[in-house]
Amino acid sequence: MQKGKINVTGEDIFPIIKKFLYSDHEIFLRELISNAVDATQKLKILASKGDYKEKLGDLTIRVKTDKKAGTLTVSDAGIGMDAEEVDKYINQIAFSGAEDFVEKYKDDANAIIGHFGLGFYSSFMVSDKVEILTKSYKNDKPAVRWECDGSPNFILEEAKKENRGTDIILHIDKDSTEFLEESKIEELLNKYCKFLPVEIAFGKEKEWKDDKYVETDKDRIINNTEPAWTKKPSELKDEDYKNFYKELYPGSFEEPLFYIHLNVDYPFNLTGILYFPKFKNTIELQKNKIQLYQRQVFVTDSVEGIVPEFLTLLHGVLDSPDIPLNVSRSYLQSDANVKKISSHITKKVADRLKEIFSKEREDFEKKWNDLRIFIQYGMLSDEKFYEKAVKFFLLQNTEGKFFTFDEYKKLTESNQTDKDKNLIYLYTTDPDGQYSFIEEAKEKGYDVLVMDGQLDAHFINHIETKLGGVKFSRVDADVIDKLIQKDEKFESKLTKEEEENLTVVFQSQLPDDATFLVSFEAMKETSNPTVVTQNEFMRRMKDMSKLGGEASFYGNLPDSYNIIVNSNHKLIESLKEKMNKKTEKALNEIKEEKNKLNAEIEALNKIQKDKKEEDIPQEEKDKREELNKKLSELEEKRRKILTDFGKKQKLVKQLIDLGLLANNMLKGEPLSKFVKRSVELIKA
Ligand code: ADP
Repeated sequence: MQKGKINVTGEDIFPIIKKFLYSDHEIFLRELISNAVDATQKLKILASKGDYKEKLGDLTIRVKTDKKAGTLTVSDAGIGMDAEEVDKYINQIAFSGAEDFVEKYKDDANAIIGHFGLGFYSSFMVSDKVEILTKSYKNDKPAVRWECDGSPNFILEEAKKENRGTDIILHIDKDSTEFLEESKIEELLNKYCKFLPVEIAFGKEKEWKDDKYVETDKDRIINNTEPAWTKKPSELKDEDYKNFYKELYPGSFEEPLFYIHLNVDYPFNLTGILYFPKFKNTIELQKNKIQLYQRQVFVTDSVEGIVPEFLTLLHGVLDSPDIPLNVSRSYLQSDANVKKISSHITKKVADRLKEIFSKEREDFEKKWNDLRIFIQYGMLSDEKFYEKAVKFFLLQNTEGKFFTFDEYKKLTESNQTDKDKNLIYLYTTDPDGQYSFIEEAKEKGYDVLVMDGQLDAHFINHIETKLGGVKFSRVDADVIDKLIQKDEKFESKLTKEEEENLTVVFQSQLPDDATFLVSFEAMKETSNPTVVTQNEFMRRMKDMSKLGGEASFYGNLPDSYNIIVNSNHKLIESLKEKMNKKTEKALNEIKEEKNKLNAEIEALNKIQKDKKEEDIPQEEKDKREELNKKLSELEEKRRKILTDFGKKQKLVKQLIDLGLLANNMLKGEPLSKFVKRSVELIKA
């Protein structure tokens, strides 16, 4: 028997392992099983080369817990080790500069284990004694037993072991007894070992017999050694991909929309299957994450920073031997290979979508609504993805038809180009609420898109800057003739003065829960008498500020709308006539007085024109002030006359309400008043 001190350069590793590796204790199991898998694979390679001629026999890796003995054992039938190898691989550990490194990465057991090649030693995170019982595949070497109690002192001696391979026996410490629980081990095996390439047995299969479950003598294998992503795409059917999705996410009910099988061997190795889930189902979206594997060993399922953010919305697996297994997250994110992988995946995803779009357009359209937000997110956040996706991004119009940007341009170019040569895309965020505007647009032969998604406000902005020459306008952003301004113009039937007077009349009855600006517009006689619109820019800013981001200044402004009155509508004409009849006399008197005052002011201005302010006599200054005061008094009087008139006009309120109603803005009490008033007006 050999007794000795583990050869640690620098400090003792054990206190450090115990002290610092308080998180991620559970990864010890992954490390031990990975070693067992490696030892088994090495043996298979030796056998295939003819360097090992004995029978391979049963290569199953076995995990056993023994609560009574307080042990957890991992056994393999791999190459094993002889005494020399144990001494070389287990007893000698390079471990210099440890304190600093460990201090820096104390929350990240992965980093520490990877840095020092401590895979096996991670077992001391949960044990107060570890034994290795191992027999080399070389027949002439005796089996050996190694034991260490967590101090640097070890024992190495010859031992009895019939079969080739290695048993690692952990004597679980009193703080870690959870690792003696069958359910805990099962959970960990499921997490880390589900797709390892060598069969792993834990416990026995159970069967239903005599009204209860009883153990059979058949091993319960917990892993699938040949998961779908390791196979060739040509060997797999649609069904297989769907089944693998269920295997990966046993709790999921939704089927994925599409899959991509990745199979790259240059300039790096990467295999994997990515799934497009239904992006509307946000719960499963967040629960099912992309899992990263290295040669079928689970590494992590938090791939943020490893793949572009928008791709973290996908589900599935990625496996690459070039992804380092035991490193910290920050290292992983800055690793050059990982970066290449990330941009490559982006490209593959875009290519696959393009392919589905070209080959199965109908299916693509059917699934579009579930895909759209993902593709938009990608286009907003990743330039390269944008360039590819802009070719298959689909716009949908109010009739439910789909168009690519190119197709839509062709459709609308001739009729929706304005006088400044901008192509105007009209859209609605609410086909029901903005119905009357949509109808107006259609009457003009315009097409209207539906843009009611969460990201649409941002997306529209982005597209405008990228495409150039294209502007989006919500159908209710202005009256139809102004949305797409062409050179044709209608004459107004109102004089400027009449418009000014009617403005006051309308102002007398505006609702007070938002800001409304009244203006007049010469439209077709058959267009609606009033239209309520909201400025496109202001509205977009407010929409975006709802999603958060820079535009929050706009979010705090009160809502502001335009009430645009059609100066050519019959109802406006009759209102004008009534107004003239009732107010003309009084207004004319005011006008005369105003004219007189204005003449006086003008005369005064002439005298004062070339004088400096300080040279004007006080008397004249007082006079000027008095005249101006009188003038504004007259203006007030004018407004009062018109306001008094306006307030009595049910028609004015009715017209404003009609505008609001067409915009889905009339609700509650104002709506019921509108209904009552309508009945009265019909009676009259
Ligand atoms: P790493 O696996 O990163 O090399 P470990 O500390 O986990 O570091 O293991 C050190 C070495 O011990 C391995 O490289 C291997 O040679 C040997 N070893 C560990 N476990 C086994 C095993 N189950 N069978 C055979 N050799 C093993």
